[in-house]
Amino acid sequence: MNLMKAILSGKLDASNPNLQFCTLYQIRKASAQGPGSITGKSPSGRTTATCDRCGIGILNVYVFADSNGNEMHVGIDCAGKMGIPLDELKKARSFKHDAVIAAHNEECRLRRVAAAERQRTWLEKNADSVSAVNDIRSWTQLSVFEQEFLDRLLSAAGFENIGNIVDNTPETASEKSQAELFACITLRRFLVENQKADTTKLGRIKVKARIWRAPFSFETPFGRTYVNFLVTSPFNGQTFVYKGGKRLGGLGEEGVLAATIEGDDTRDGLQSAIVKRPKWTAEDEKA
Ligand SMILES: [Zn+2]
Repeated sequence: MNLMKAILSGKLDASNPNLQFCTLYQIRKASAQGPGSITGKSPSGRTTATCDRCGIGILNVYVFADSNGNEMHVGIDCAGKMGIPLDELKKARSFKHDAVIAAHNEECRLRRVAAAERQRTWLEKNADSVSAVNDIRSWTQLSVFEQEFLDRLLSAAGFENIGNIVDNTPETASEKSQAELFACITLRRFLVENQKADTTKLGRIKVKARIWRAPFSFETPFGRTYVNFLVTSPFNGQTFVYKGGKRLGGLGEEGVLAATIEGDDTRDGLQSAIVKRPKWTAEDEKA
């Protein structure tokens, strides 16, 4: 005889002091996040999404049974009104707690497994770009900022098109700024390994040059100061830094630099000539 029939035929009273806690199962309704599901099961295998006592829809279904195996599937509020021994109610309440934690841990574990799998597939699919990033990551003179940027590139599995960044073929604004940064780090390594800061000839120079790194600026009591980074073009190992009131041009711009060399400065392993009073003539302006 099933439970509902037992209750309806008066063979099992909904107020039953002989009921003992068996288990809890949880109903998850279907939603935009996924299909409905049931976590756990009752000893008899029966499941329901409504309370046997009051008929209301419930998500946490507590199963109590008497010595004959007659099960009551109820919400915790109803369980409290059925004369069930306090110890059994306590078991039920703590079981819920344990089950929720166990379900949460399992969910986290599955998410981690899925993320690791996603990362593995992503690394495999982008093997060439990943090896290019790893190559520059192995450079011992990376700044903390550069190191973090490169680490981030490899942990962004599935979110960034790393090929577009490494090959400098960006399609989005985010890829563009990252591609510029990646190119800049690659070039900085090349410059450091091939540097030739010739500051023996102090004084006025005039050379073809390229802005190899995006200029940055900061506010001072005397106004905005710009830091500009240049390298001779064609490249011969000589880099220049100009710090002052002028922004000479944008990243990658080519032109002619006329300036006075005043000394040299080493930043992140790269020695550059410090120039003053620069006159920058961008290439397209001459044309
Ligand atoms: Zn109920």
